[in-house]
Amino acid sequence: MATIKRILVTGGAGFLGSHLCERLVDQGHDLICADNFFTSQKSNVQHLLERPNFELLRHDVTHPLFLEVDEIYNLACPASPVHYQFNPIKTIKTSVLGAINLLGMAKRTHSKILQASTSEVYGDPDVHPQPESYRGSVNPIGLRACYDEGKRCAEALFFDYHRMNHVNVRVVRIFNTYGPRMHPYDGRVVSNLIVQSLTGQDLTIYGDGSQTRSFCYVDDLIEGFVRMMNGPDDFIGPVNIGNPDEFTILQLAQLVLELTGAKSKIVRQPLPSDDPTQRRPDITLAKDRLGWEPTVALREGLGKTIEYFQSVDLGSFRNPTPNVIK
Ligand code: NAD
Ligand code: UDP
Repeated sequence: MATIKRILVTGGAGFLGSHLCERLVDQGHDLICADNFFTSQKSNVQHLLERPNFELLRHDVTHPLFLEVDEIYNLACPASPVHYQFNPIKTIKTSVLGAINLLGMAKRTHSKILQASTSEVYGDPDVHPQPESYRGSVNPIGLRACYDEGKRCAEALFFDYHRMNHVNVRVVRIFNTYGPRMHPYDGRVVSNLIVQSLTGQDLTIYGDGSQTRSFCYVDDLIEGFVRMMNGPDDFIGPVNIGNPDEFTILQLAQLVLELTGAKSKIVRQPLPSDDPTQRRPDITLAKDRLGWEPTVALREGLGKTIEYFQSVDLGSFRNPTPNVIK
């Protein structure tokens, strides 16, 4: 039988966190999910509450936490631009103080710790696709800096704790991921376009829609996470996890219209500042070292995501911030 581990997932009630918790609980691990519910709600993990190996803790990672665990997945951080820009100082504190507190816990308990980093560390990239060796093109004083620089600083802290204190770290750079349990009002492009289609609203395209993103289905991402955590100790990352199939935002909107059968119009809105013009992961490293590559195509994953949004009561979700077009 596989070893049962005590595992902490911060941000565990969020979109990605809830899928990760589910997977680890199903594997029989003793799971603690810590979240301050800034961009999520308990309903994401409601189905786990009755499981004897699942524990839910309301906690803000900017404050220290004392637990005895074997592994930590650090996902706590708002991920959607509208939410991370709502209180940018809090966003930086979440990434930086959160990393310090959790790395401190990892050092004290000799636990392994994985950081959910982001493709945003590459900023608006002038190398395409982006390999891990690319150092990025981030505006350090722009509206996205609270997130991008917070995550870059967290990566620096992970590598310094590893070099100085021999903490067993892992760093995963996540590219745009979507799927069931995204917050319907999180303002991200996939959730916005689907919810707009299902509620008869116009589909909002920022700028001319020629900017690109590469969308990874959540199940593929979680598989990459778990492989990285359980991979060899000489491979600590950073490693890109994402789907290299690249689409313009306009193509995405057209696909959502086709799959939902909605008759909505596509309307243009201003492009937010520092919005990256292109983004696509080079996943050579993940393939070579983890034997990982995505298996779910955009059309299939969008179909499942649309089914999810059709199945939930959109009125039962609160807007995490007032910053979202509803
Ligand atoms: P999400 O907003 O659904 O989840 C984030 C969770 O963290 C939420 O439950 C939120 O309440 C919690 N949280 C925020 N601040 C906190 C704090 N101070 N203390 C405790 N909990 C806090 O977003 P997600 O898409 O699930 O993202 C999870 C992680 O993955 C984030 O760190 C994000 O930066 C990273 N990431 C996600 C994507 C993506 O496309 N989904 C891409 C790159 C990186
Ligand atoms: N976007 C859009 N319409 C929306 C929401 C987002 O055109 O309703 C665009 C946004 O400007 C960006 C892309 O879609 O170019 C992805 O945005 P998202 O917020 O999902 O993620 P990120 O910019 O962090 O990749």
